[in-house]
Amino acid sequence: MSRDLATALAAWFNASHRTMPWRETRDPYAIWLSEIMLQQTQVETVRGYYDRFLAKWPTIADLAAADDGDVMKAWEGLGYYARCRNLLAAARTIVREHGGEFPREFDPVLALPGIGRSTAGAILTFAFGQRHPILDGNVKRVFSRLLDIAEPVTSKAVDDRLWAVTAQLIGDAPDPWVHNQAVMEFGARQCVPREPKCLLCPLRTFCAAQAAGTVAERPVKVKKPPVPHKQIAVAVIANEGRLYVQQRPHEGLLGGLWEFPGGKQEDGETLPETVRRECREELGITVQVGRKIAEIRHAYSHFRITMHAFLCVQVGDDLLIPHAAIDSRWVARDQLDSLAFPKANKDLIAVLMGDHPELG
Ligand code: SF4
Repeated sequence: MSRDLATALAAWFNASHRTMPWRETRDPYAIWLSEIMLQQTQVETVRGYYDRFLAKWPTIADLAAADDGDVMKAWEGLGYYARCRNLLAAARTIVREHGGEFPREFDPVLALPGIGRSTAGAILTFAFGQRHPILDGNVKRVFSRLLDIAEPVTSKAVDDRLWAVTAQLIGDAPDPWVHNQAVMEFGARQCVPREPKCLLCPLRTFCAAQAAGTVAERPVKVKKPPVPHKQIAVAVIANEGRLYVQQRPHEGLLGGLWEFPGGKQEDGETLPETVRRECREELGITVQVGRKIAEIRHAYSHFRITMHAFLCVQVGDDLLIPHAAIDSRWVARDQLDSLAFPKANKDLIAVLMGDHPELG
């Protein structure tokens, strides 16, 4: 069955796959870049970023030598910024330890920052034609249906089983490049999360969930707790036509990006009180909180926020000392775009570019 399934999958792919720039190259750097960008991000979103990135930094050595802020700026809007930091760190590792050449063996690739087992396999298959299984979220869904797996896909036992199945399949596949591309494409276009196209499916005769009538129940997922919703209050502190912004530490959520100071509303606190407390804690200054200039909603992977932005001015003579940032600047409104901000701050900046006499 394994060989027949691999053959059917390859025939489907060869007849109907989409054209993508990273499928037209065997450059491991370009393929690696695409694999990282495509994690949790749609193909159509990635295309523009991918082209711009490669135009600006055509080789691993170029990327390794790039300014961190420029790279974060080029990634701005793509989200999951740890991917970008890891990409840069890995490029520097490749220059330092591999003479700028992307390694061809599995273990050194897996050792690079931000590259897991599935991504390592994908890069080595797509760049060098090696036979490595891949098992991303799409592939897990496809095989949990093909095999009608009744246990949660997040369990270790199911994970082990799926790795074993995908390893056997790639071993039997006529062409490993086609096979891994086909598996990914099949998950993205045919065996999609909701309403998979079972009626016209080329793997229908191999599909145990289809035979058992359990497609809608596969993959089995453990119910997630409700997503927390945080109220965030931030200060837009103006001084002589410039606004105060600061850079988050490189580690952690949104690391290395710029932002307006502020933080989470505590129990029993009004939003202006949050702003005053955060400015005292983060900057060591007292602010007078003025009008609310924007309210912005944003969803991260594990929580949602509503960001309330207030116009503020410093009162008193305390020296502003950033305690929660690695860098800070007073920036003219029309210069804010030169720095990389997370999405909610970008939306705030769009509001700030409107007509606000208080901002000069
Ligand atoms: S028959 Fe349906 S569930 Fe089974 S592999 Fe095809 S699309 Fe997926």
